[in-house]
Amino acid sequence: MKAAICRDFGQPLTIEEVVLRAPGPGEVQVGIEAVAICHSDIGYLDGIWHSQLPAVYGHEAAGRITALGEGVQGLCVGDAVVVTMIRACGQCRACRLGKPYLCATRYNRANGVLSLPDGSVVEHGLDTGAFAEACVVHASQVAKVPDDLPMELGALLACGVITGTGAVINTAGVRAGENVVVIGAGGVGLNAIQGARLAGAGKIIAVDLAEEKLDAAKEFGATDVLRADMKGLRKAVMALTEGQGAEHVMVAVGAVAAYNQAASLACKGGQVVMVGMPPSGAKMEVEPVIAAVTAQSYRGSFMGATVVQRDIPYLVEMWRQGRLKLEELITARYAFEEINQAIADARQGHVRRNVIVMAR
Ligand SMILES: [Zn+2]
Ligand SMILES: [Zn+2]
Repeated sequence: MKAAICRDFGQPLTIEEVVLRAPGPGEVQVGIEAVAICHSDIGYLDGIWHSQLPAVYGHEAAGRITALGEGVQGLCVGDAVVVTMIRACGQCRACRLGKPYLCATRYNRANGVLSLPDGSVVEHGLDTGAFAEACVVHASQVAKVPDDLPMELGALLACGVITGTGAVINTAGVRAGENVVVIGAGGVGLNAIQGARLAGAGKIIAVDLAEEKLDAAKEFGATDVLRADMKGLRKAVMALTEGQGAEHVMVAVGAVAAYNQAASLACKGGQVVMVGMPPSGAKMEVEPVIAAVTAQSYRGSFMGATVVQRDIPYLVEMWRQGRLKLEELITARYAFEEINQAIADARQGHVRRNVIVMAR
């Protein structure tokens, strides 16, 4: 099959013939029908986080099951599925405690699923490798979805949507009537805004540098929007929250300046939730005495603390009820051969999600 391979960081991908091994015990093979370009893919392509090369990235995908490994239950060949990077063994302590997104079991990459025709191993990027015609993943990574969900909308549910909505609903635990600030109204931030609306938040205040992103924030349910570079941002947030600050400040950007500012927008007892992915080594500043006297807390949110087979069907239902926007998250569609263009375009600030739709 063909896959888009990263051979050098920062260089265009090359579409090459690769060998995808058959699914082993507990694994499934999925024929990819749509795969979105996520900023995490771009981070890996640029080498800002550690990864081996050559590699196949791509982790926001949807398709149909084409083969089942031994022992897989509850899935059939032909099922429409969303493919995520959340691989859970079901056995480790995190899995047993109901936190499959924190699964501690590393799988043996020497027995990787991808190789070049000469037999050398190709890195199975983000345990998914979906910039390809097909992938082999652990069964825990997929969620069955209804046949009438368009594949390109399903792909969005694999990462950006669950990361944003889950950060608000699962990690922050936003309750009806609480106020939420979302810093960054990009792909993940817009979904944090949608999550806040689903949770019944009171004020949903979006903060961003770009005017068009603030317009998008309103479209996705922000009650108020503020320019990140405005004078008196904190005052403006206070004015919208009875002088208290927000119960939850979601940071959905990779810029450290936003993390440094976040606590000042939260109320006493409020929390800062770190969702964005700054480069490795970037550090934020926290003044412990302020955290102590304000009883504020800081939490990280990984993949929206998502339980794949619980949360993805729920989000499909929210989409069906008209309470979750998916179509509106797509900026453009591309053929697989246009993947480098899709990635180049995704680097533009105004892009929400670019999706590769595979020819069938
Ligand atoms: Zn586990
Ligand atoms: Zn992603």
